[in-house]
Amino acid sequence: MQKDLIFQQCHHHFNDIVAIRRDIHQHPEIGFDVHRTAGIAADALHALGIPVKTGIGKTGVVGDLEVPGATKRIALRADMDALPIQELTEVPFKSKIDGKAHLCGHDAHTAMLIGTARILSHLRSSLKTHVRFVFQPSEEVFPGGAEAMMADGVLEDVDEIYGIHVFPLYGVGEYATCVGPMLAQSDTFRITLTGKGGHAAFPHLTVDPIVIGAQFVTAVQSIVARNVNPLDSAVVSITQLHGGDANLQEGLTGAALNVIPPQVLIGGTVRTLQKSVQTRVREQLERLLAGFADANNAAYTFKYQEGCPVTYNHEPCVNAATSAARGLVGEDNLIFPVPPILGGEDFGCYSQEIPACFVMVGAGNEEKGIVNMCHHPQFDIDENCMIYGMALLTSLAIHQTSIEKPI
Ligand SMILES: [Zn+2]
Ligand SMILES: [Zn+2]
Repeated sequence: MQKDLIFQQCHHHFNDIVAIRRDIHQHPEIGFDVHRTAGIAADALHALGIPVKTGIGKTGVVGDLEVPGATKRIALRADMDALPIQELTEVPFKSKIDGKAHLCGHDAHTAMLIGTARILSHLRSSLKTHVRFVFQPSEEVFPGGAEAMMADGVLEDVDEIYGIHVFPLYGVGEYATCVGPMLAQSDTFRITLTGKGGHAAFPHLTVDPIVIGAQFVTAVQSIVARNVNPLDSAVVSITQLHGGDANLQEGLTGAALNVIPPQVLIGGTVRTLQKSVQTRVREQLERLLAGFADANNAAYTFKYQEGCPVTYNHEPCVNAATSAARGLVGEDNLIFPVPPILGGEDFGCYSQEIPACFVMVGAGNEEKGIVNMCHHPQFDIDENCMIYGMALLTSLAIHQTSIEKPI
């Protein structure tokens, strides 16, 4: 009964949830500044008679569906924030705000969790656990909404937490997850390399930070290849390299091409799945930097910022998620275990605190040309995926059993 009932409920709410998703899509909000979106979530929970707390983690919203006699509480989490990117799709409900867009699908996450709250309210009598609906701000910027909501107690009395993410590389009706690390620890680093500027025709009177910086950037490419066990995973990407006085908007027009600058700025990101690998990469980055600076009589600063921790899927929660997925779409449409990816997700913060599982929900459709990955300016989802997102969250909640708590 469960599968048919769940899908029937998801279809029943589908048009409404699409409308909510499109409304949020047209009005994207960034970081913690998600007042309008949070208002939509809070109003939707209020309308269901679910007690709501707002202002959790600045602008997060928490609703508690209480089930008489239940001893366990699971949390279902959706993120609400958009990205500071210009949308280049041609959808009729395109972002109305220049330079901001929902290109990671968090509009769909919010809408699906609202739909799930509606369905679970309706099916409350079949529930054996309390359900906490968590609408989180600022997933894209670290430190972000997960930490802020945890500081405000969002995980108090919660036994397990689940999150989903739309994923266009898989088709609608597919789910993907794995046990253990699923998404990476994502860190950033900022470097200043200071030499001695001067006339470009008198390099012997300078300490040229451009040459040292270039040597460093090249050497960094061997950190993963020569320091990390080939069976482990790591990425080191240099994403910023600035030197000289050029205005980036104007290119090199007007730039002083006869001056060796005093300083270069270098920045990038490190992605790892294990603490030991992260430590090794971090140490090797600074060792190389110190070595090149020292060998060339330059000075440096090295600032390493740890970001989102690894999103770690705990086995009992994965078992619950995979059995829900199998029940809905069958073994053939469950991609398990999916290899971990080195993207970051601040759901990782929750997963370091309590048992958790994160699931990718297929949202792509090659025939409709919906193939672009999250953060691409033409990212889009096949909205039918929202049926499967809601179905999974609903099934997860319904199939949870109560737990014996020590008296
Ligand atoms: Zn994103
Ligand atoms: Zn995202």
